[in-house]
Amino acid sequence: MSFKDFKFHPKVNAGIDACGYTAPTPIQKEAIPPILAGRDIFGLAQTGTGKTAAFVLPLLQRLLDGPRKRVRALIVAPTRELVDQIHDNIGRMAKETGLRSVVIYGGVGKQPQIRTIRAGVEIVVACPGRLLDLLNEKAINLSAVEVLVLDEADHMFDKGFLPDIRRIIRQLPKERQSLVFSATMPKEIRLLAEKILQNPATVQINHTLPVQTISHVLFQVAKEQKTSLLKSIIQEREMTTTLIFTRTKHKAKSLALHLQKAGYSAASLQGNLSQQKRQQALDGFRDGTFKILVATDIAARGIDVLGISHVINYDVPNTAETYTHRTGRTGRAARTGQAFSFVSREDSKMISLIERNLGKKMLREVTPAFACEAAEDVREEKRESFSRQMPRRTKPVVAAIRGKSRRSRASSFDFGIRKSVQR
Ligand code: AMP
Repeated sequence: MSFKDFKFHPKVNAGIDACGYTAPTPIQKEAIPPILAGRDIFGLAQTGTGKTAAFVLPLLQRLLDGPRKRVRALIVAPTRELVDQIHDNIGRMAKETGLRSVVIYGGVGKQPQIRTIRAGVEIVVACPGRLLDLLNEKAINLSAVEVLVLDEADHMFDKGFLPDIRRIIRQLPKERQSLVFSATMPKEIRLLAEKILQNPATVQINHTLPVQTISHVLFQVAKEQKTSLLKSIIQEREMTTTLIFTRTKHKAKSLALHLQKAGYSAASLQGNLSQQKRQQALDGFRDGTFKILVATDIAARGIDVLGISHVINYDVPNTAETYTHRTGRTGRAARTGQAFSFVSREDSKMISLIERNLGKKMLREVTPAFACEAAEDVREEKRESFSRQMPRRTKPVVAAIRGKSRRSRASSFDFGIRKSVQR
């Protein structure tokens, strides 16, 4: 199948050419025909599959006909980064169409957004909070919206946006086309989709499976050795562009500073930064000024930087889904990428969940200096475990039957790592 089969208007085809796309991705093949036919869609698609173009291209085709300078399409997304990215994509794809979009999100002044709306736009790309503000102030009118897109609906749910979404939807005409995209389908999203979609076509691309072009590697390391391991990996491997995830904003900031002091071109991206600083970090990462970006999970979704060679989970994520989103930042659009995870003893349960989701074991790699630390870590764990659980005299006996205890299962996981086998 080629893009020609969709019979887009030449002005839309010009946008496809401008993006350099030669053939549609699976989600585009599946989703574009029903969207062009005017159907509602529920798209279960992970990051990096080309889903933005899957909804933007048919949207542009539809908006080419009909009135201008009215908000006819509303795209709602959970993060400012994703909103910016969708807007940029529209900018490239809509170049020849004369259709315009505006971004709406908090953290920056309202007035420029209001001025752009007043000047006349056909597409609004928004985060829910600021959009509701503008609706309450009657600075935006959504009564002419023909198409609603909810992108990364599961992430909106995670962020507690669903009540806002419902309020926004109440302001839209009942007669409209609605498209909902989500990487996963928690119950709340299924219920939302049932409520707002009419007779939808469901399009499912590798639901919750991480992108196939990524190799997943696991490093066992004691917590306090993570930064040293990170530096040794960066030194030893060819890493063109690396996105590192930490659990806390503070760690993202301090690790980026540490790497800068050690001579690396690194920046942090985390929620404590102003919008301007976040944008600077992201732009610098995109244009190659920063080779390393240390981020919290606000960066896990939406960020579309082509050519990220490595994603490093300095801290293992809290859910298997987040692992998919983080690692989906590499291996995008059929490029290959590597995902490294630094694992200490308390992460064994989460690693099992992630591996179940992956459908395979990750490759275990050993970096000798740190393997010793890890081994010591495990030995320490055993000692602690014995002294906590057992009265002194019974220890030797229990040690012999320990293979059956819960603690022991965690240890065999650790030993599996140190054997360095790919299973
Ligand atoms: P998305 O899932 O929309 O964030 O897209 C992931 C990446 O794939 C982006 O860099 C897109 O520019 C790129 N992309 C989207 N569609 C295509 C296509 N048909 N061919 C090649 N790259 C594409």
